[in-house]
Amino acid sequence: MQEVRKPKKPLIFYYGVVLIILLLFNFLAMPWLAQRQVREVDYGTFIEMAENHELGQVEVQQQDNQILFTDKDNTMIFKTGMMPDPDLTQRLNDSGAKFSGEIIEQANPIISFLVSWVLPIVIFIAIGQYMSKKLMERAGGPNAIAFGKSNAKVYVKSSQGIKFSDVAGEDEAKESLSEIVDYLHNPNKYKEIGASMPKGILLVGPPGTGKTMLAKAVAGEANVPFFSMSGSEFVEMFVGMGASKVRDLFKQAKEKAPCIVFIDEIDAIGQKRDGRIGGNDEREQTLNQLLTEMDGFEENTGVVILAATNRPESLDPALTRPGRFDRRVPVELPDLQGREEILKVHAKKIKLDEQIDFSKIARMASGASGAELANIINEAALRAVRDNRQSVTQADLEESIEVVIAGYQKKNAILTDQEKKVVAYHEVGHALVAAKQSNSAPVQKITIVPRTSGALGYTMQVDEGNHYLVSQEELENKIATLTGGRAAEELVFQSSSTGASNDIEQATKLARSMITRYGMSDDFDMVALETVNNQYLGGDTSLACSVETQTQIDRQVVALVKKQHEKATAILKENRKKLDEISLYLYEKETITGEEFMKILNS
Ligand code: ADP
Repeated sequence: MQEVRKPKKPLIFYYGVVLIILLLFNFLAMPWLAQRQVREVDYGTFIEMAENHELGQVEVQQQDNQILFTDKDNTMIFKTGMMPDPDLTQRLNDSGAKFSGEIIEQANPIISFLVSWVLPIVIFIAIGQYMSKKLMERAGGPNAIAFGKSNAKVYVKSSQGIKFSDVAGEDEAKESLSEIVDYLHNPNKYKEIGASMPKGILLVGPPGTGKTMLAKAVAGEANVPFFSMSGSEFVEMFVGMGASKVRDLFKQAKEKAPCIVFIDEIDAIGQKRDGRIGGNDEREQTLNQLLTEMDGFEENTGVVILAATNRPESLDPALTRPGRFDRRVPVELPDLQGREEILKVHAKKIKLDEQIDFSKIARMASGASGAELANIINEAALRAVRDNRQSVTQADLEESIEVVIAGYQKKNAILTDQEKKVVAYHEVGHALVAAKQSNSAPVQKITIVPRTSGALGYTMQVDEGNHYLVSQEELENKIATLTGGRAAEELVFQSSSTGASNDIEQATKLARSMITRYGMSDDFDMVALETVNNQYLGGDTSLACSVETQTQIDRQVVALVKKQHEKATAILKENRKKLDEISLYLYEKETITGEEFMKILNS
């Protein structure tokens, strides 16, 4: 895409213009003015000029008792007082000057006043006005001229325009949007049957899944102008500004139809109007204007509005009703195949080794968004450059996943011998509990190299394929695996350490959602005790039950985690020998692969 906004001129340009005007004024106007001013000289100078034949015209003004005279070229006018000089006529005769009584033309005093005082002031005021207008525009702030302009970025298609093929995965979203492209190419096909295109399409999904990219791809494929603006850009300090920006945006869009208007992060203006005290008047007015504009334009005018948000539940129902944003396109986190495709799209931009197993990388990066996958590829390329290699290897990619998950390796973290041993037992505890239960993901890697995220070590488990459903047993096994680290510490060192804080947090979260949201407890049956607030942004929850029920929930969560903790301890006790053996191996090697782990376990 190419932005076709006029580039802003640098500030130096305006200073340059002012300087040139001042210089011209000085060089051209000033000398002319200076010429027509009468210069007063003494009588001696007059006599000297007369003797040197330097006089042009001379006018003797008897009644004013003065003589006006010019130089030879008539460029300067001089004035001197009359002296009793009987030789005056003779002197003038000898000098060859003209003294026929011709009146020397002096500068009109009014004109000279205008030119020397009024004109410079007018010029300066005009320059000042122009400069302040330009500076205000540059600051993007309100001013008398740019007040309420939408300042939307306008893109037109260029040869590097984003196409659907650049957006990997997301096939359902692409299918839904290609209908729009078809409509923009061939609106008559739709008009003939009487079908009307949705006026607005809402792209919803977690951050970094390619919503903005998809919108740009629609414009790229349809070859129409693309207006892009973020929801927050509408909201100004002054009430009414946002509304006028909306009006301006739609006016421009209608002029340029067929075109696409894209409003990113629409939740900034589209939030529910709940009439709270201290509500935001400006935001509500902006939203009202948007609702009116979307109602106002006819169907099939060729203006398609795309909007993106990751908080669809917070949008005002008036905005999402049919006739406004009547189609909702979910842009979800990519599945295994989607991740692999996204990796491949981004890998085209970098030099790769011949043997790269993208499917393995995709499996390791489970839960990653498109933006994170792009980041993984870039991290791998940076790593190859750091090591002075010509291409990116499989190891670079695997390491960069760990960098994105857990941060960089801490080069100078010094663990005491005892701490290192505790971490080794802790990690093998997780791995062993995972391996000894059915239905848990295979261990891929165990490491006790500290990371910048604060993790002193971790066990990476990688699922083989896509998982859409998770059973109760799998969830329980997961909790047992999470408690396995602490169980190993207790078993071997008869003490606990702070290293398990993250495991505890995750295990509690899982156990709580099993009871409050997945109906996996005996007492509550299929009752929802918690609701998820924002599904795409972390998914924090709020309880919807009585205080007594909350107490019961807490008890059940504790019981569930405790049961799994005991199960983990039992598994480790049973395999105490293997636990010692593998922990010692890990302690020495610091990082072991899943295969090494399984080999010792099965030996
Ligand atoms: P969103 O608007 O959903 O937050 P973006 O569209 O801005 O996300 O995506 C951010 C970046 O992530 C893109 O520039 C692109 O590099 C990468 N990306 C995200 N999803 C995809 C995808 N499906 N295919 C290819 N690249 C993607």
